[in-house]
Amino acid sequence: MTESKIDPTTGLLDRYSCLQLAAELVDLAVENDQPLAVLWIDLDRFKQINESFGYDGGDNIISVVADRLSERVKDKVKIGRISADEFICLGDNLDIEKAEKLGAEIMRAIELPLTMGDFKIRLTASMGIAVLEPEESASEFLERADWSKNTAKKLGGNRYVISGSELVPSHMGIINAREELEVEYLLHTALDNGGLQLHYQPILDFKGNVLSVEGLMRCTVNGKNIPPVRFFPVAEVSGLIVRLGEWSLLQGTRQALHLSKAGLSTTVSINVSRGQLSDVRFAQALHAAIILASVKPQLIELELSESLFMDDSDVVQTNLRTIRDMGVSLAIDNFGTGFSCLANLKDIPATKLKLGRAFIMALPEDRRAMSVVKAMVQLGKDLGMTVIAEGVETKEQMEALRELAVDGIQGYYYAKPMDVDTLSTWLTDRGAHESK
Ligand code: C2E
Ligand code: CA
Repeated sequence: MTESKIDPTTGLLDRYSCLQLAAELVDLAVENDQPLAVLWIDLDRFKQINESFGYDGGDNIISVVADRLSERVKDKVKIGRISADEFICLGDNLDIEKAEKLGAEIMRAIELPLTMGDFKIRLTASMGIAVLEPEESASEFLERADWSKNTAKKLGGNRYVISGSELVPSHMGIINAREELEVEYLLHTALDNGGLQLHYQPILDFKGNVLSVEGLMRCTVNGKNIPPVRFFPVAEVSGLIVRLGEWSLLQGTRQALHLSKAGLSTTVSINVSRGQLSDVRFAQALHAAIILASVKPQLIELELSESLFMDDSDVVQTNLRTIRDMGVSLAIDNFGTGFSCLANLKDIPATKLKLGRAFIMALPEDRRAMSVVKAMVQLGKDLGMTVIAEGVETKEQMEALRELAVDGIQGYYYAKPMDVDTLSTWLTDRGAHESK
């Protein structure tokens, strides 16, 4: 590493050195194919502290927090002061589970009582946690953690938010109006100038057979990647979701044909969101995409959140019926994270149940999560559905899920989402040629 500069107040790395270190660790993580996590910590109400105790008092508190961080986690992560009241911790070999544990530990350390003269105060913090994604640059990686930290703050602070698990920001008023306009502009640009791509992530059974590949949208404008958690909520409120959705239907169906022509016959799963399914033109758009690609509808599957199936508006229900009549299958996406009434599940015309990552992350240590997953698997099977676990990252999770008799798994443990060329090579290397 190039010479690090130390922040005089805290003895930690200063902002510049943090950024430099992040870039170096990202390169190393890619080289060694190891996970890298960042925790971005922002003290809550720091302005109030400065107003109450003056800047010296504020500095004092900052250095106490820095000492606490160093005492607790110095051996696990590199710590830096990224701005006045913000710190980052960078840890190589930290997957999301370990990073979350560390995040909780840091929160506890920050919350310990603190004495300022005659005053006793308790601090809290907002934290964003991110794990390096494939092909991500250091600045995109840090930006995601910063973004999640802002989400944590906007939700009232005193919490951590894991990047990728944010609640639908726009509806929660989390994304501000200006950011919304900015993202909307970028989406238009991407649609007009070819900045969209579908990456694909395989879903496998325990024998290693590929059951399907899920299309996941990527958006790049001027070389900068905008993550789906950021642009989908904006697409929903701006109505752009219909255009984006039509684009992914066209791409997904074309890819299904391409794979089947290459003898790599596998179902392609396409995500569909609320704004699309509540549009009267949806079934027509799907039909057109299938005809244009000349692909068998049986090679296409749509992934819908459970709440969408429960939506009893005429448009949604008609769309669902037409999709099924076309011979396209349906999967319940992220099951368990919505608030569906179990009684209604029996009427849902889906053939696949995808268990949300939130449950899988806790396996196998969390016995209660194990029980919940076991019950969901049983429920799905009793209803005649194929049960898939999403977000499987470790061998232990995979083994626990095999024991729970899940039919298929998807997650970084087997494969991350990849572009079409990488997918073709990946499928060919696995000998996924048609044998059915
Ligand atoms: P989703 O349908 O729940 O997709 C799964 C997300 O989990 C994807 O995030 C995927 O990259 C990520 N993932 C997969 N395996 C793992 C793992 O082992 N660990 C972790 N940490 N993450 C994993 P992504 O690509 O950011 O997509 C986010 C969401 O955006 C999707 O959630 C889906 O709801 C939406 N989306 C993506 N593409 C499309 C699309 O073409 N159309 C529509 N309507 N929505 C889309
Ligand atoms: Ca999905």
